[in-house]
Amino acid sequence: MSNAQQKPTTAESTLADIVSHAKEYGFVFPSSEIYDGLAAVYDYGPYGVELKNNLKQLWWRAMTQLNQNVVGIDAAIFMHPTTWKASGHVDGFSDPLIDNLDSKKRYRADVLVEDKAAEYENAGDKARADALLVELGRLLTENDLAGVKQLILDEKILCPISKTANWTEVRQFNLMFSTQVGAVAGDSSQIYLRPETAQGIFVNFLNVQKSARAKVPFGIAQIGKAFRNEIVARQFIFRMREFEQMEMQFFVRPGTEGEWYQQWKETRRRWHEAMGLPAAKLRFHDHEKLAHYAKAAVDIEYEFPFGFKEIEGIHSRGDFDLTQHQQYSRKKQNYFDNDVNPETGKPYGNYVPYVVETSVGADRLFLATLCQAFQEETITEGEGEKQQTKTRKLLKLHPAVAPIKAAIFPLVKKDGLPEKANEIYNSLRHDFPLVVEEKDSIGTRYTRQDLIGTPFCVAVDHQTLEDNTVTVRHRDSREQTRMPIADLRAYIGEAVSFARIFEQL
Ligand code: ATP
Repeated sequence: MSNAQQKPTTAESTLADIVSHAKEYGFVFPSSEIYDGLAAVYDYGPYGVELKNNLKQLWWRAMTQLNQNVVGIDAAIFMHPTTWKASGHVDGFSDPLIDNLDSKKRYRADVLVEDKAAEYENAGDKARADALLVELGRLLTENDLAGVKQLILDEKILCPISKTANWTEVRQFNLMFSTQVGAVAGDSSQIYLRPETAQGIFVNFLNVQKSARAKVPFGIAQIGKAFRNEIVARQFIFRMREFEQMEMQFFVRPGTEGEWYQQWKETRRRWHEAMGLPAAKLRFHDHEKLAHYAKAAVDIEYEFPFGFKEIEGIHSRGDFDLTQHQQYSRKKQNYFDNDVNPETGKPYGNYVPYVVETSVGADRLFLATLCQAFQEETITEGEGEKQQTKTRKLLKLHPAVAPIKAAIFPLVKKDGLPEKANEIYNSLRHDFPLVVEEKDSIGTRYTRQDLIGTPFCVAVDHQTLEDNTVTVRHRDSREQTRMPIADLRAYIGEAVSFARIFEQL
């Protein structure tokens, strides 16, 4: 018997542990690994795809099901190339790049300076860190690349590999991937792999508004792949060249964007907390340098093992995108608002709506969820002389996102117990993703399920044949509860229900 009273102690986990756990237990694999992989591209394995789908579903339903005025779309990855001219990506979607001539390594110049600021902050000098970030923001806004290089030299920032300051000039590098469409290659057939999903929403603004008979304020949500030729690929699935975004563009009456920005900022933070990311590990970070489209922008950051980093961006984009598309397409992007303006006594009339956007990376959310769930505990098992202390690794995933909701174990592989286990599986498989496992000792089977985050294990024993009861073992407490088979559906259903998360929003 396990000693469930024992309070577990948790060890800090490092990214390396998480990467190897993710690979060993079928969550994330390096892409095309038999060919030594492809930098910054990853594949999701059998449990990873389930976890990721659950996270996406929770986002999708929180957006479209909990808000009467948010609807979804699924736009294509390829778009008319003028889209990217209008959006500013052809001319402005770039990162400042710098090379070290000794190590031949390439870096993002802004990230080198940000890392230096983080160093000051960790050493307790927040004022110096803030001043450095403000200066960086100013130089980037003015596109003063020589100034950024000088800042790197003044701050004595060295290449982490060669430990020298033998830097090239800083230059801008466009992050969009391009390809050719059709059989004939040439400038006219060049198209891009979308670097964000947002533009698929903007160009469909009127289609959606009219077909869904939407009234401002309303939102359009989308989940889809985006592609960026990131200069430096590191930190596992944190920075990928092919990734997935979950974006929502909320169209509002000009002048009301400030309130909506505040509201979505809070709503999105609450959502992350409800999903199991603790408040102490989340923070807002206001942007020093605003993107070309933004009027105000904030990141929601999570404390990864490698520090606080962005998982979601909330941006007040004004009417930048719709106005740009109006200009480039020569198609009006107006909305007629027939609500009466109390100041004039007349309808608000025609305008191009303003946009507040929430944009979260499915992969970064996945990584945050995995980092949060991955724990190593010291536990005491057995009683009296047989008592022993050992460590166990487990994924404390919220039951609503766990890949497998319950594993059903016949205690032995005979006496009709496997058949009974399969009978239970068949009676519940329409409701939940389940597995039946017969191999190995029951302890080994529990361990395997702990490692993939299965919240419940259902043991089928000889008593089950007599009275149709089973033992349900809980992943986190290791406590065991005897209950009728007939109660399983409601019991598991309650724990894994999305409603438990939604009611916290
Ligand atoms: P960063 O500053 O880290 O490059 P960003 O500010 O460019 O990110 P946004 O353009 O605001 O990111 O994109 C919205 C969200 O998309 C981010 O919060 C992040 O979760 C996700 N995202 C962006 N780039 C990547 C990437 N290369 N890999 C994985 N997720 C990404």
